[in-house]
Amino acid sequence: MNAYNKSPNSLRLHVARWVVPVSRPPIENGAIATFEGKILGVGPASELRASYPGEIKDYGDSILCPALINTHSHLELSPLKRRLSPGGSFVDWVRALIENRDLIRPEEWEPAIYQAIKEMQENGIIAVGDVGNLDIIPLFSSRKDGAWPFRGVFFQELVCPIPNGAEEEIPLSAPFVNGKITEPMDIWSPSFHYAFSAHAPYSVAPQILKTIKAWDQSHGMPFPIHVAESEEEIEFLQGGQGPLRELLKEKGHWPLNYDIPKASPVRYLETLGLLDRHTVCVHCVQVDRDDISILAKTGAGVCLCPRSNIFLGVGVPPVEELHASGIPLALGTDSLASNDRLSIFAEMASLSKLAPGLPPEAIFRAGTYGGAKALGISEELGSLASGKAATFLALESGPIGNKDILEFLVHEGYKELGNLVIG
Ligand SMILES: [Zn+2]
Repeated sequence: MNAYNKSPNSLRLHVARWVVPVSRPPIENGAIATFEGKILGVGPASELRASYPGEIKDYGDSILCPALINTHSHLELSPLKRRLSPGGSFVDWVRALIENRDLIRPEEWEPAIYQAIKEMQENGIIAVGDVGNLDIIPLFSSRKDGAWPFRGVFFQELVCPIPNGAEEEIPLSAPFVNGKITEPMDIWSPSFHYAFSAHAPYSVAPQILKTIKAWDQSHGMPFPIHVAESEEEIEFLQGGQGPLRELLKEKGHWPLNYDIPKASPVRYLETLGLLDRHTVCVHCVQVDRDDISILAKTGAGVCLCPRSNIFLGVGVPPVEELHASGIPLALGTDSLASNDRLSIFAEMASLSKLAPGLPPEAIFRAGTYGGAKALGISEELGSLASGKAATFLALESGPIGNKDILEFLVHEGYKELGNLVIG
């Protein structure tokens, strides 16, 4: 991918057959005026030429649109690409993931993560909400060699077995000291933040879920958590039975004194007071009408990972209903342990097949503005508007009609490796 970054301090007018700002309808023969790394204006080229008499960069039959946001990834799992097979049960996959993760050789991390970063960049991704249990990605992102290109947030994920009894017996993960999360180390760049996430409602004790949420909240950070990904999760939270119970027992985490929530994952999180507009519920495949109304009422967002859901065979999220209820949607690739690509354009194409009733505008919005909003970076990224970062994608489209522009992005975007433009 080539970055257009010549004399970034000059006033420049980027002109193309189509500009798709996301915050407003597509503009035919549109333009983006940029100056000193910021967007000054977006509109018809004829109007902007008069207001911003700068250097003109003409992209011809191209689409200029926001760079994409991968709201949910696990880059540290990149060495597992094509090592796990699709189609088994969810719990079998978790078991295989744990086993294979332990088999990763130290020398495998770096090339696999470099390759994963490159793939995301080539597919127009500018920011990530990356989740991990190790310090590999925080260390990667703090390197001074320019290897880390993304903005967004790294979430240190906590998997804390549900307690057997006394709170102090909880085997806590590294960032915890006496049941409280410690402050993260100061090793990241100013545009890449650090926060905490909880793995899932079934794998983290309720008190710890609350502590993580409270830390994220007090630091102005979003709180992501895998929610309602599989039928097995529903079975366990509703009745304490099923293959997840077996897995917890197998790992020595079976909670003797655990109060089964007897509720859906969404209702359980609501009961704990964890749902608000800064909570990002990842997956939400197995949600019913009640769950959808709770999500809508609390303002919690949903990050869809359609290709991961297909890989794992966990079902199809009720996307049209989520959208119709006004729930903010974002898109994520999840990891290369449950996906063979790290492309938000590919997620868009898959989502449109899974949810044919969802308008292409909503799908494209989920992969751009929806993701930026979910990660708390929408003042800078996610749409093209004055004051935002002058960073966008230029995709060659050839001649294309007005009504097809968003269809083209959603269905064909993954075929066009656009250039990331830094104006
Ligand atoms: Zn995940």
